[in-house]
Amino acid sequence: VSKSDVIIIGGGVIGCSVAFHLVKAGLACAVLDRGELGREASWASAGILTHGNRSSFSTYGRMATESRAMYPALVTELRARTALDLDYRESGGLHVFFEEAEAAGAADYCAESRRRDIACDLLSAEELRAEEPTVAQDALCALRFPDDGSIRPQRLTRALAQAAATMGARLLPHTPVVDFVRNGDRIVGVVTRGGVIEGDQFVLTAGAWSGQLGERLGVAVAVGPSKGQIVLLEAAPSAVRHVIHAGDNYLVPRSDGMVIIGATVEDAGFDKSSTADGVQSLLDWALRVAPGLRAARFVTAWAGLRPASSEGLIIQRAAGLANVIVATGHNRNGILLAPATGVRVRELLFSTGL
Ligand SMILES: Cc1cc2nc3c(=O)[nH]c(=O)nc-3n(C[C@H](O)[C@H](O)[C@H](O)COP(=O)(O)OP(=O)(O)OC[C@H]3O[C@@H](n4cnc5c(N)ncnc54)[C@H](O)[C@@H]3O)c2cc1C
Repeated sequence: VSKSDVIIIGGGVIGCSVAFHLVKAGLACAVLDRGELGREASWASAGILTHGNRSSFSTYGRMATESRAMYPALVTELRARTALDLDYRESGGLHVFFEEAEAAGAADYCAESRRRDIACDLLSAEELRAEEPTVAQDALCALRFPDDGSIRPQRLTRALAQAAATMGARLLPHTPVVDFVRNGDRIVGVVTRGGVIEGDQFVLTAGAWSGQLGERLGVAVAVGPSKGQIVLLEAAPSAVRHVIHAGDNYLVPRSDGMVIIGATVEDAGFDKSSTADGVQSLLDWALRVAPGLRAARFVTAWAGLRPASSEGLIIQRAAGLANVIVATGHNRNGILLAPATGVRVRELLFSTGL
């Protein structure tokens, strides 16, 4: 393999978005993945594009809103470049409240969202029933975020990779990086089973595995796995209209009639199994929130490992190394944040010199 300007380590949605944005800026990129590209967290994801989430206000600030706003143009561009249908849906999102205490805070939550330029309205129980008949009758009220939506994350990652490849990026699946070759404060190559691949700049986008690779680099990357389980049901078409949040879980309708129930948040190391407990808790929650799904067909269940970080999102130059950028820690919002992350990494590369 010949030398690349930029070696991207990890071909999930973040690595593929970085490659897409860098090749468009004229850089020669190679994306290396241990397995197939896009088969880890980015494959397991529910694909919700929400910026109206309180936890993302504090963690990601404006970046979530910026990234959400990039989606319509990105989807159009990726469709033109790859002909893939990403099932991008501008369905809007509902945050439904069943408890008095939560419902009492809904107006404040709505006002806070609007202050952050996030469109939001408060729906009464009757308005909610008209908008989303599937929700249980005892829901007290809901917030509607009309700009929330969803996408098929598996196809998004594939489209970013394919588009980058058509513009010259080299995709190297089944190429685990096992070590780095260092010269002073620079990395000059990555060690793979097939030999060393040299590069000028390196971007670490290895998701939940970034902490392990950071150790090989001698850099502390405070990222590890947070397991999330998902259940997939098949319902009548349009049985669920919006992305529906209640408490910590959500329902995501797809255009093919499938409905995703997500997601657990578990500290289970690198284990990706679906468990009886996880599947049961998701089904119990879903049938409580949307009893109409009782007759839906159980299709499958899966789990993935989010890149969780005590430091939140990490998009920065690696300390002590002149030519390594770390882009990880996207935790529950990596699909949403992928476009803006690609742009940030490009800006970082160009602002601090190639
Ligand atoms: C159940 C679940 C639901 C989710 N729902 C949503 C959602 O609705 N909306 C949203 O925005 N986000 C969601 N997320 C989060 C989102 O999926 C992640 O934040 C995002 O996919 C992270 O992307 P990534 O590219 O950093 O990681 P990954 O997709 O995990 O990619 C990292 C890649 O690095 C590769 N790699 C690891 N080690 C090496 C090595 N040594 N050498 C080479 N390659 C290596 C891996 O094989 C992998 O392909 C969800 C996540 C889960 C698990």
